[in-house]
Amino acid sequence: MMMPRTALLIVSLCWMSAVSAQQAVALKSEAWSFIEARADVFAAANRTIWSAAEGSLQEVESSRALQALLADSGFEVEAGVAGMPTAFVASFGSGRPVIGFLAEYDALPGVSQAAVPTPNIGPNPEAGHACGHSVFGVGSTAAALAVKELIAAGKLEGTVKLYGTPAEETGIGKIYMLRAGYFKGDDVILSWHASDKTQASYGSTKAIVNVKFKFAGVAAHASAAPFGGRSALDAVELMNTGVNFMREHVKQDARIHYVITDGGGQPNVVPPVAEVWYYIRANDFNDVVDYFAWVKQIAEGAAQMTQTRLTQVEVQSEMHELFPIRTLAQTVHQNLTFVGPPQWDAAEKQFARATQAAFGSPQGRSYENPIALHAAVEPLPEQLSEPRASTDQGDISWFVPTGGLRVAAFGYGLPIHSWPVVAATGTSIGTKALLVAGKTLAATAVDLYTDPALLASVRADWQQTRGDAPWKTLIPEGQMAPTQVR
Ligand SMILES: [Zn+2]
Repeated sequence: MMMPRTALLIVSLCWMSAVSAQQAVALKSEAWSFIEARADVFAAANRTIWSAAEGSLQEVESSRALQALLADSGFEVEAGVAGMPTAFVASFGSGRPVIGFLAEYDALPGVSQAAVPTPNIGPNPEAGHACGHSVFGVGSTAAALAVKELIAAGKLEGTVKLYGTPAEETGIGKIYMLRAGYFKGDDVILSWHASDKTQASYGSTKAIVNVKFKFAGVAAHASAAPFGGRSALDAVELMNTGVNFMREHVKQDARIHYVITDGGGQPNVVPPVAEVWYYIRANDFNDVVDYFAWVKQIAEGAAQMTQTRLTQVEVQSEMHELFPIRTLAQTVHQNLTFVGPPQWDAAEKQFARATQAAFGSPQGRSYENPIALHAAVEPLPEQLSEPRASTDQGDISWFVPTGGLRVAAFGYGLPIHSWPVVAATGTSIGTKALLVAGKTLAATAVDLYTDPALLASVRADWQQTRGDAPWKTLIPEGQMAPTQVR
């Protein structure tokens, strides 16, 4: 006679669990105490990375700050991996399971901001942590250090890794690390992100290609001899116009955006070279492949129209949609519920409220909200939401189950990639967020190390969700990571 499925599951859970639920709770408390006791160290590390505010592939000081924390604690650190000086892998322990944490630490150009609640140039006038990656990197590192302590004490068995992944904003770091063979042998990879809410992650992301188009024309005096010149900038403008007409005939979920990275020197010289940088996104990587082919045809057409040449189509990177794993999301949610949301004090709420008031007024839209800072754990979403952004974690999810959470780190309702995010993550608001994230990630890892049945069901869920579609790439074979993004 067949045993009912649930009974079978309970029997197998009891049989396979390496430690009791009570012992797991004790290990989690130990990890939480470890993180709490070092709150000042993590706050200082966040301030270092936040102040440096280094852009994609320039994260020298930020990468070094995280590596130092890990190396000082006994991790073996391999720096400059996959041809990127600011990428690294830190490992501790041996054998399985192998649980990895992702750290990001790149800032965004054009959003310099001090840790004050009104617009104000920050320590790096060029860039700021408007995506909260300074807290991201430190929160994940806190989790890795706490897990390492438990492994070192013989209380957990296996390997812990912290991946230092640069250039997330341009989708470069993890892709080239993946191409170099990293991540693939791990059992589970965990991460988190700053947000205006606290919630376990359960959703996909958009696939994307990050590509530059370069045109060559002929320079000439723009007034005295325009007939002798051919403008590469004209080709860029006509290409953009063509793509803007293409928009009518792509699926609703597509997103296409560009910036002109080279539009010529000065107006009296017909621009002999010009370059435009595109992000082409869709929910399905196969659609990205189709749209990219169409955009290339438009670029070729623009070159013909202007008697210029399309000299280069450079795929800098690409990202795939992420496979969300329900079982893992539930485990993260349970642990997040135990840890609880950040507890804000009056000054922090006042700070966030001031950013809500200051951000809205220039555009005529108010971001003022009865909630200054989100102070609850949101329920785990029942349904997958519409993917909005992209992450290079998506590609890892094609090879390893991934999961994580987001934690409130700035004023409620405010958009990411804005100055209020930089402002708040540079204060104790950011510190509290990274502590909650670090504790939740460490606790989730404890479950995965100590409960083989849970790990098996996470991997089975991933196998089923992922299916067997091959991972294809638009990046030419053998291409190394770019050394700069612009
Ligand atoms: Zn981000």
